[in-house]
Amino acid sequence: MQNLLQNRIVLIMGVRNKWSIAWGIAEQVREAGAKLIFTYQGDREREALEKLVAGMDDIRCLPCDVTSDEAITTLFDVISMEYGRLDGLVHAIAYAKTEDLAGSFVDTSRDGFLLSMNVSAYSFVAVARAAAPLMTGGGSIFTLTYLGSNRVLPGYNVMGVAKAALEASTRYLAYDLGSKGIRVNAISAGPVKTMSAKGVKSFSDILDVVPQKAPLRRNITLKDLGNSALFLLSDLSSGTTGEILYVDGGFNTVGI
Ligand code: NAP
Repeated sequence: MQNLLQNRIVLIMGVRNKWSIAWGIAEQVREAGAKLIFTYQGDREREALEKLVAGMDDIRCLPCDVTSDEAITTLFDVISMEYGRLDGLVHAIAYAKTEDLAGSFVDTSRDGFLLSMNVSAYSFVAVARAAAPLMTGGGSIFTLTYLGSNRVLPGYNVMGVAKAALEASTRYLAYDLGSKGIRVNAISAGPVKTMSAKGVKSFSDILDVVPQKAPLRRNITLKDLGNSALFLLSDLSSGTTGEILYVDGGFNTVGI
């Protein structure tokens, strides 16, 4: 795997800490030879990210709050000036208000619904559009989604609706960008203990049920996700686009 992504430039959005899915993916993508650019949301998060990447060569950390069109434009302008091109983009960003994950979906506020859609679904469209002109030699873009997009998991609520929009966006983006040689996919990950996951009330129940029901009889690891990321970012997935790739030990295939 060591040279699989040699000299590829990959932008990773959504590292909060060492437990983040994006960080697990980043470690393997880096081992495969890629040059990494990370984003952080604001000054508060900058320090934590810089500590995490301290000692790594050839890393760039840039700000980007994905709710701001200006921030997205600035991010890709800087990448264009400093690197001249981009080969891969990992979007691992989602947000919902705590109260919208605490109660019933029927009580979701208009504000909460729109905020969750904005950060968790629209941002994928916005960053894909900004990244495409830099992917002059073709490229690979993928996002992270969850089974709550098409099944009800109590407590996942508005995030499930945002993930449904994110998955539909993946297919439309794949169609629009395919003629430029840009592939767009999503990984539907099984449950992983992260800061975001802690916000979902039923998360520990979900984590307990997967090893009992999933064909692989275990929860997935960051390494499992990193392996699939290598596939999607490399030429190994040259014929794959518009796909939702389940990395969940097969849990989604089981009826009972
Ligand atoms: P995480 O470590 O908490 O990462 C979520 C990231 O989203 C954080 O880096 C956060 O930035 C970022 N973010 C939120 N709002 C943002 C904004 N306005 N601008 C820029 N960044 C923003 O949690 P995670 O579980 O790894 O989540 C990564 C992705 O995987 C999400 O899309 C999540 O839905 C998906 N996923 C997770 C699981 C799971 O079980 N954990 C399963 C399936 C899919 P800050 O650090 O600045 O807040």
